[in-house]
Amino acid sequence: MSKIMIELKDVNKWYGDFHVLKNVNLSVKEGEKLVISGPSGSGKSTLIRCINGLESHQTGDIIVDGTVLNNNVKHLESIRQKVGMVFQHFNLFPHLSVLENLMLGPVWVLKKSKKDAHDIAMKYLERVQIADQAHKFPGQLSGGQQQRVAIARSLCMSPKVMLFDEPTSALDPEMVKEVLEVMVELAEKERITMLCVTHEMGFAQKVADSVVFMDQGMIVEQTPPEEFFTKPRTERGQQFLAQIL
Ligand code: ADP
Ligand code: MG
Repeated sequence: MSKIMIELKDVNKWYGDFHVLKNVNLSVKEGEKLVISGPSGSGKSTLIRCINGLESHQTGDIIVDGTVLNNNVKHLESIRQKVGMVFQHFNLFPHLSVLENLMLGPVWVLKKSKKDAHDIAMKYLERVQIADQAHKFPGQLSGGQQQRVAIARSLCMSPKVMLFDEPTSALDPEMVKEVLEVMVELAEKERITMLCVTHEMGFAQKVADSVVFMDQGMIVEQTPPEEFFTKPRTERGQQFLAQIL
């Protein structure tokens, strides 16, 4: 049996009076790939932002690789080092070159030498097939290229977990494929645990172990992709699919 990498136990979160996560329970094994789907506003982003401590939750437990996420700064730092995140908008530093963007984390957080950081950065730029753009600035790249840089930047930190929040939804349609291909390759070749908020069914069917369907702050069902996209178990899942298909 693989070990549990991420565990959420009865997690609740409020924004003011608004109950955004309701008794969320989730258990993700090491190396497992989950797709999180559900209507806009259902709490998907909030859920994954809680897992790396970008948002705090009020009750329940979140445990990542054995470390409890709480107000202890040491725990938070430890979890952030293990968990990489890729956002809808790439969040690259515009005034730094692609290479410099990738070297920042290894130099400042992992305390690598400049030479080692450079080698790590180039290795992952090659991995996402963009090494020839290393000396450009993010603004000189297409959206699809920038998102691949953002993925490479996360990989430079050797994360155990990668969280993706709608990584292709801000891209022009012709660029979606190149980003999904990188993610599929990552999913198939690495033991990294992946949680990916996306409505890309092809991606889910290729790589996901299961689809976690959220609605109104709750996990409504967790179903294998081939089943979720043909016959979701819940009525709410069926209604949602009817809208996105
Ligand atoms: P999703 O990613 O599924 O679209 P979110 O997690 O972004 O959903 O948001 C869930 C709900 O919480 C939405 O109703 C949203 O308006 C609300 N929300 C998100 N962030 C905040 C915030 N910082 N303050 C108050 N409400 C928020
Ligand atoms: Mg969202």
